[in-house]
Amino acid sequence: SAAPAPSETIDGFHLLIEALKLNGIDTIYGLPGIPITDLTRMLQAEGLRMLSFRHEQNAGYAASIHGFITQSPGICLTVSAPGFLNGLNSLAHATTNCFPMILISGSSEREIVDLQQGDYEEMDQLAIAKPVCKAAYRVLHAEDIGVGIARAIRAAVSGRPGGVYLDLPAKLFAQTMEAAAGRSTLIKVVDAAPAQIPGADAVARAVDMLKGAKKPLILLGKGAAYAQCDAQIRKLVESTGIPYLPMSMAKGLLPDTHEQCASAARSFVLPEADVVLLIGARLNWLLSHGKGKTWGGNGHKGWGKQKFIQVDISPQEADSNVKIDAPLVGDIASCVAELQKAVDKSWAKPPKEWTDAVSAKKNGNIAKMAETLAKNPSPMNFHSALNVVRDIIKANPDAMLVNEGANALDFTRSIVDMYKPRKRIDVGTWGIMGVGMGYCVAAAAATKQQVIAIEGDSAFGFSGMEVETICRYDMPVCIVIMNNNGVYKGTDVDPTGRDPAPTVFVKGARYDKIIEAFGGVGVHATTTAELRSAMEQAIKSRKPTLINAVIDETAGTESGRITSLNPNAAKKK
Ligand code: ADP
Ligand code: MG
Repeated sequence: SAAPAPSETIDGFHLLIEALKLNGIDTIYGLPGIPITDLTRMLQAEGLRMLSFRHEQNAGYAASIHGFITQSPGICLTVSAPGFLNGLNSLAHATTNCFPMILISGSSEREIVDLQQGDYEEMDQLAIAKPVCKAAYRVLHAEDIGVGIARAIRAAVSGRPGGVYLDLPAKLFAQTMEAAAGRSTLIKVVDAAPAQIPGADAVARAVDMLKGAKKPLILLGKGAAYAQCDAQIRKLVESTGIPYLPMSMAKGLLPDTHEQCASAARSFVLPEADVVLLIGARLNWLLSHGKGKTWGGNGHKGWGKQKFIQVDISPQEADSNVKIDAPLVGDIASCVAELQKAVDKSWAKPPKEWTDAVSAKKNGNIAKMAETLAKNPSPMNFHSALNVVRDIIKANPDAMLVNEGANALDFTRSIVDMYKPRKRIDVGTWGIMGVGMGYCVAAAAATKQQVIAIEGDSAFGFSGMEVETICRYDMPVCIVIMNNNGVYKGTDVDPTGRDPAPTVFVKGARYDKIIEAFGGVGVHATTTAELRSAMEQAIKSRKPTLINAVIDETAGTESGRITSLNPNAAKKK
């Protein structure tokens, strides 16, 4: 008699791929190697976009910002132990920044790892990942892949988003199941990031406080940008008439040129405001912890006289640094909708003395800045080079702007206006260097827009090899390196005369030559005219381009705007 027909089977590789596809994941950032090499090939063969990097940290940063831009978890795929550790930096970054990301890492056999018998790339990865992520899971059986992916997605995007670790030991991939039974274990996640409606009492408390304000201020953070309720936020700001201040990655939520934008009057509005409505912004170091001189504070522990209303999805955020008088816990879209309802019922615009004072301060500062920007010194300085970038972004408001460095970061943030939401992606909560090229790849992949990266020469070095990745995928990325020969600036010397100073690089380095090695366009720009035409050409051609913008090596200050964070050496007598 004939043997029964073999039933169709499915293996761990394909269950994983199908689970990802079922949940709308279309792009994977990673780096092949044991045990995931075949997985990367199969992902590509099954129609997912598999973007392969030169170092896992950059793939991870790409995944993290993919999460910020799309609200869908960015996936980073790494090999075991060393690859995993390289990816861990970005997992921690995602968690710190509240970006949804899943680091999926292959790992060695549990039996050997747990007995510490010395496996290839042996490491207890799950235990190591746990302190830097929101959740960590391991899947040992093919039949649990569906649950593993579902839990990872929910953990990454629900509530306060963050980084999730998913550990997949090598053996899992080759396990097989009967195909129909295997597929029946997969889960399409329903309502992964549920709305969280604020309580009526909390809304009333917040509205009362806002209505009682004489000098109200709205502070928009990257949580507000992430929430993708741009029109609602704009309406709330405009209908209340309250001046607002965008945090770095919230720039463009409303155009920076908006008449209510108080960016150019930051040091005036923070200490002066009496009621501050925080929307998706934490009172961490980036806001001087909500106290001290920045806030005009001289009370208990430097607390100021402001009252704070804080809209945040995390119920634990309030009171983290100073007293929050009206916490409004919920998702930003729901909270803003509730505030809007109240405002629509009755609202009086803030006192004219306040809004006039803010405008006067702001216009004065803008006029001063315009004078500085109009200068065209030789060699270029940050201001003259960034004046070009400012014009280019104004003419190309859909372009994604990646920004990292010290002075290159501070000056770009204050000089280059943004016009649309989620176009500016930068060093984030930690103020880290190294996100640049990974962010460029993800920005190009996730948005298909032109990407412009403004990089300090030091910052660029952390991810520079990914220029090859950008060229390989032929991405419309224009990298501008503000080259001042070093970290902060290029003028330090070794007092002993032996070595270059620790902050100084090869002088006159030609970063533009790097991209030429991979078929991209390199430009050496020493004048603003050269910089302008090179950027215009890059955007027109959409070719991978690297512009070495030569900046005066005496330009720039130690640590940019955060000099005060350097510990002081004991005073010499
Ligand atoms: P910034 O650095 O721009 O000030 P932060 O990262 O400090 O921004 O703050 C972002 C805040 O936004 C976090 O406290 C986070 O919990 C919150 N958040 C993120 N997404 C949402 C959302 N959808 N709804 C409400 N709050 C959110
Ligand atoms: Mg430099």
